[in-house]
Amino acid sequence: MNLDRLRSVVPVSVDAAERIAHARDLWPRGTLALAGAGPLPPSPEAVAWPRDGEEIAACLAWAEAEGVAIVPYGAGSGVCGAAAGRAGSLVLDLKRMNRIGLIEGDTVTCQPGVLGQHLEDALERVGRATRHSPSSIWCSTVGGWAASRSAGQFSSKYGKFEDMVLGLKVVAPAGAFGTGVWASGEDLGPWVMGAEGSLGVISELLVRTVPVPAVRKFGAWRFASVEAAWESMRALLQADLHPAVLRLYDPVDTRIAGKGSATTVKAKEGAGWLDELRTLVESVPALRSHLLSLPLALPRLLNALAQGVSSGCILIAGWEGEPDVVEVLARHGAALLSGGEPLGEELGEHWYAHRHDVSYKSAPIFERGGFADTMEVATTWSRLPALYKGVRAALGRHALVMAHFSHVYQEGCSIYFSFAGVGRLDVYDAAWRDALSAAAEAGGTVAHHHGVGQLKMAAAARELAGIAPRFHALKARLDPAGILNPGRLFPLVDMPEPAAPPVEIDPVSRIATLDAQQPAAERDDWLAKAGWELRFPSTGSLAASVGAPRQPWESRVLGASARLDGRRAVFLAVPRSSAGPDPREALPAGAYETLTVPVVRRDEAVVRVDVSASTCLAADLRPAREIAGSAEFRGPAAADLAALARRLGPIGSERASADLPAADRARSGS
Ligand SMILES: Cc1cc2nc3c(=O)[nH]c(=O)nc-3n(C[C@H](O)[C@H](O)[C@H](O)COP(=O)(O)OP(=O)(O)OC[C@H]3O[C@@H](n4cnc5c(N)ncnc54)[C@H](O)[C@@H]3O)c2cc1C
Repeated sequence: MNLDRLRSVVPVSVDAAERIAHARDLWPRGTLALAGAGPLPPSPEAVAWPRDGEEIAACLAWAEAEGVAIVPYGAGSGVCGAAAGRAGSLVLDLKRMNRIGLIEGDTVTCQPGVLGQHLEDALERVGRATRHSPSSIWCSTVGGWAASRSAGQFSSKYGKFEDMVLGLKVVAPAGAFGTGVWASGEDLGPWVMGAEGSLGVISELLVRTVPVPAVRKFGAWRFASVEAAWESMRALLQADLHPAVLRLYDPVDTRIAGKGSATTVKAKEGAGWLDELRTLVESVPALRSHLLSLPLALPRLLNALAQGVSSGCILIAGWEGEPDVVEVLARHGAALLSGGEPLGEELGEHWYAHRHDVSYKSAPIFERGGFADTMEVATTWSRLPALYKGVRAALGRHALVMAHFSHVYQEGCSIYFSFAGVGRLDVYDAAWRDALSAAAEAGGTVAHHHGVGQLKMAAAARELAGIAPRFHALKARLDPAGILNPGRLFPLVDMPEPAAPPVEIDPVSRIATLDAQQPAAERDDWLAKAGWELRFPSTGSLAASVGAPRQPWESRVLGASARLDGRRAVFLAVPRSSAGPDPREALPAGAYETLTVPVVRRDEAVVRVDVSASTCLAADLRPAREIAGSAEFRGPAAADLAALARRLGPIGSERASADLPAADRARSGS
């Protein structure tokens, strides 16, 4: 490896400390190895710090000539072993690319190495925000978010990070290109986001911003069971009440993390459950001397004990935005959550204040000979019970397990399992193997926002088997020598051709799987006879309308099946996934066989207002859809929201509620 030529372009280090630091990300398996359970991961040969796209291009050209593997590295906060500087590789640490560019209107440009919190701080100074708020916001980069399809804590209102990205500049060995609004010709954005640096290095981003929310309002409720709470959560989402936060803790999480009592609440989010686990064990004299080792070694016993002492489940709901809108949404939301016992605002406010305390204190569990990890899966509402039970049982054979439900969408939600076991690699690997199989069996995506890495390569390969050949063809085009994260994102797997999903309506998840090429009249007639209509009407076949612009919080296509290169590819119907790239809306129209799309009930009360959707959106009001230029509000809050919308003026007016006289705003909130 001739580093002298590279040194003339970028700073390079072969220092042992740098190489060891860039040998891995925060995949707990690596931490377990570090704690003595296995061999240490190999270190890269060198680390380089480019400053812009041109320097990245120079590094890639050098690596191609030298035959050296390149590992793009954001902040290394990934938890699946994606950013891992393998032996003989050059790590491109992107953190010197930390310039924030133009903050203009509702966008910001920035380089990929900007740490999340720094971007939010810069935006806040001018009254803007992305509101992308992963728990790792202090230790992850904007480029890493796009590369692995990250989700933040307010994703229900603002979407996942890939929904907020309007454009990317990408440097690949074959040349630089733009995506989204920066694309000239083919838009490779859906392939690059989620490719985890295997198709190109993201060198600049254009990201959507929103005003810093004027107010927020939280509430907490205790439900007797997760099933009862799911019903209320689903009702709330499907009533278009757009919470920014909706988090349900299962009985074990509620119990161990202590969320059940507002008076005893301390820093319980995330890291707290580890402390509580220790406290729980220490409180039993016979177990005290064994601290964590005994319960971790006997996960089935502890899981059963924790289930047995169930004190219900805690749900936290929160709204934020313009005061008048928040008041309406929170009031109607509380009514839909009335099946639970109200616990006041304190728990929610506490969660908000401590929302980033997560996981930084997991080291003690490794020090005591255990491991702690998390797994995030997602599916539709109708498949949620099977996914929860299946994965919990699979993990529970090997580890103490608890879960919370967050990242909630109209069509489904994600489940975030936290689990801790005895610190042996064979136990760790068995827990993951069983859990990933259980997730796939229950029809869930194996990754909602942590991405693929080494951990989920095989599982993602099975989930995306149908598009893998296209991915590999694109990789060969963009990176002919295969220097970018070699071997990733996933291998080609030989699987039998899947059957096409049946044409059917899923009334629980409010989605319908339909013939993608069917003429509109025939399709709409069939739906109408069953009492449904498309949430996003289309005058042609569904295939012809795929790829239409959407708001970041909307899902226009949940699932799809298509014939690609003579074979059927099936995309699971899930609200959001990070199991690799997501080109389900970027295939040739003629290839689609079926599409799974959102539907609404025809007998539901609607109120239409002669105001454009864009005017409503500028005032933080979200119509369910726009029909012929009129904003349509649905569900229990429709009349109240429509009343707020009428104050904004007729179609074409761009006057936002922020521009209304203060007195008007106060009245509209009353
Ligand atoms: C305590 C903790 C909490 C977390 N909470 C969340 C959460 O709430 N939500 C969430 O989504 N994730 C969460 N994560 C996971 C992690 O923060 C995300 O996956 C994040 O997106 C990774 O960003 P990073 O900059 O650290 O990327 P890295 O880990 O450095 O890299 C991730 C992958 O992206 C590639 N990559 C990085 N930068 C670029 C680039 N510019 N161009 C091309 N490829 C690139 C790397 O090669 C690698 O394959 C959490 C992690 C921790 C440790």
